[in-house]
Amino acid sequence: MSIALIGLGPRGLSVLERLLIRLRSTPPDGTVTIWAFERVEHGAGRIWRTGQPPWPAANTSASEVAIHSPDSFLTVGDGDRPHSLVDWAGLEPGQYPSRRLYGRYLAAAFDDLCARAPHGVHVRPVLAEVTKLARAATGRLWVTAGSREVPVDKAVIATGHPRLEPTREEAHLGAHAARHPGTRYFGPGLAAEMALEDIPPGGLVAVRGLGLTFYDLVRSMTLGRGGRFVDGPGGALRYVPSGLEPRLVAGSRTGLPFLARPAVPPSSEALLRPTILTEERLHRARDAAVAERGTPQLDFAADIEPLIEREASARCPGLADPASSVLRQIRNGPPTRWSRPGRPAPSCTATRRR
Ligand SMILES: Cc1cc2nc3c(=O)[nH]c(=O)nc-3n(C[C@H](O)[C@H](O)[C@H](O)COP(=O)(O)OP(=O)(O)OC[C@H]3O[C@@H](n4cnc5c(N)ncnc54)[C@H](O)[C@@H]3O)c2cc1C
Repeated sequence: MSIALIGLGPRGLSVLERLLIRLRSTPPDGTVTIWAFERVEHGAGRIWRTGQPPWPAANTSASEVAIHSPDSFLTVGDGDRPHSLVDWAGLEPGQYPSRRLYGRYLAAAFDDLCARAPHGVHVRPVLAEVTKLARAATGRLWVTAGSREVPVDKAVIATGHPRLEPTREEAHLGAHAARHPGTRYFGPGLAAEMALEDIPPGGLVAVRGLGLTFYDLVRSMTLGRGGRFVDGPGGALRYVPSGLEPRLVAGSRTGLPFLARPAVPPSSEALLRPTILTEERLHRARDAAVAERGTPQLDFAADIEPLIEREASARCPGLADPASSVLRQIRNGPPTRWSRPGRPAPSCTATRRR
């Protein structure tokens, strides 16, 4: 039996782990070969590649990411328990890791999985782009990657966000930059894939969009250029420039940056535990739907959303404030400003998981 995994970022890694766990609990009759095709880096993949500079940071805190399943047989490091990112990297749960540090954790997990594959199971990494997946008349699948053609019985595609052809507008911007010497256009993508070092100190950079990549860009253009953020008055950060930064002119359709990430409880034990949107309540709602309509299917707007609102309002009383309601933003689009001047943002209470 042979299986192709195409794409070995976090998702492909999780598929690999589940396959190995299953093959260990139910040993196969013959040998099993798992071909792991990845074009950038096994485990870390494209987004979390380990060769990127340290400035781009994950927007998920260390406590929120762990690659291993709770029942994983990967026990590397501490006897019984697979490493979470917090354990592995020695981070505080609320710290936001650099993308490359998370990538190192993922790459180490891939190596561990390969080394600990059960008896009779072989993981064969191939660092190449898969360009073709075709089914032969015999029913077998053929995977083409570089000069290699590999026959397999099954294939799993876990290729993540696709790289898209430029839209007409993006192509127009690119062509405009090409016609004007000294101007460059970087299309949407990862900061790690942009030639940011070509931007001279003092150069003028227009940034479209204030999302994830914008933050990576700002960190690269400030910390990455030798600048520093130091504590300023009132808990605010003050930027100390190095003089090597370009000038950024940034905007988006709303003109507003993403909402800041929440403060994460110091212990991953102190997680929010729902009291209104509980599994029991959803089971009851499904039972009622079966009795009334003959199907357990619930209507999100009618059945679920009001519970989410009540749950959120109970935890964060400030959410009821029209100026700061996140739920209202989801429904009506973002507000024209985040909060009323002088008003603290709503704070949420976490209940300790029992
Ligand atoms: C710019 C950006 C920033 C992000 N930041 C965050 C963040 O901070 N926090 C967070 O939690 N999530 C973030 N994400 C979401 C991210 O997609 C997930 O965290 C996670 O990486 C998804 O895992 P994946 O395996 O599905 O996809 P990916 O991580 O994209 O992995 C897919 C892999 O498939 C490989 N591949 C694709 N096509 C082929 C092919 N033909 N042949 C061989 N290999 C191929 C790619 O090289 C890639 O490594 C971000 C996504 C993007 C695009």
